[in-house]
Amino acid sequence: SPKWVWPANWSGLQKAALGGDEIASHTIDHPKFDTLSDSALRAELSRSQDTINAHIKGQKCITIAYPYCVPGNEAIDAEYYIAARGCSGQIVSKTPDDFMNISSFVCGDQGLNTVAAIESQANAAAAENGWCVYLMHGINGTEPGAYSPISQDTILATLEYLSAHPDKFWVAPFGTVARYIKERNAASVSEVSAGGDSITVQLTDKLDSSYYDVPLTVRRELPDGWDSVSVYQNHDTLASKITEIDSVRHVRFNAIPDTGNITIVKESVTGPRSQSMVSPPSKFGVH
Ligand SMILES: [Zn+2]
Repeated sequence: SPKWVWPANWSGLQKAALGGDEIASHTIDHPKFDTLSDSALRAELSRSQDTINAHIKGQKCITIAYPYCVPGNEAIDAEYYIAARGCSGQIVSKTPDDFMNISSFVCGDQGLNTVAAIESQANAAAAENGWCVYLMHGINGTEPGAYSPISQDTILATLEYLSAHPDKFWVAPFGTVARYIKERNAASVSEVSAGGDSITVQLTDKLDSSYYDVPLTVRRELPDGWDSVSVYQNHDTLASKITEIDSVRHVRFNAIPDTGNITIVKESVTGPRSQSMVSPPSKFGVH
């Protein structure tokens, strides 16, 4: 159910942020960016960001939705934001061509306005391992003059459909997906040690950890006979799952880059741990 109602206020937005929503910028004055001088553009980019950062704790304002989907000078936009939303109505590839103009689909009475229409774009994105971004500019048409309002019932039915298929769709805030992609593309996994019943790896991305802190999904091929494993990082247990890919067993887990060595330990289910050395497989994948 909706966590807060319009008109928004800072305490409601803070609650939404704590609940996992992203509070991002849509500027203060809603101008068309291509009509602004560089200094006026900088003011629009920074004032909304500074205001959000002053009021919302626990996250940083790192993305913007362009008013009217007009980017203006993307090089200047990129001085303030890691990604920005336009609305050219296309599925975005799993590594976007241009983070400063990510395409979205307008929803509501000027675009996708039924559950079936919205779902079909999500399915199209899944079919090509792509990214589907929706633009919803007003809900229920209660704001006078709101562009392309969409009904709350349509949004909720769509969310129910998406959350019923967690193996097919990953649904996350715009800025979280942008950070995930940048981390994934910058990430490297190196083996610190392997032998006996444990494998220790390091996951790094060399990005600014103050906001590039989205967990990446990592999988690691398991040696023969490793039927049960635990994954540890800094004395914490990470949730993990064993999957088979082409008959080869892998362990899959989520970990934040640059937060310490990760150790995969073979668990002995029925007897004492084997003391024999195993030769470590070399295949890792970050997804
Ligand atoms: Zn707008």
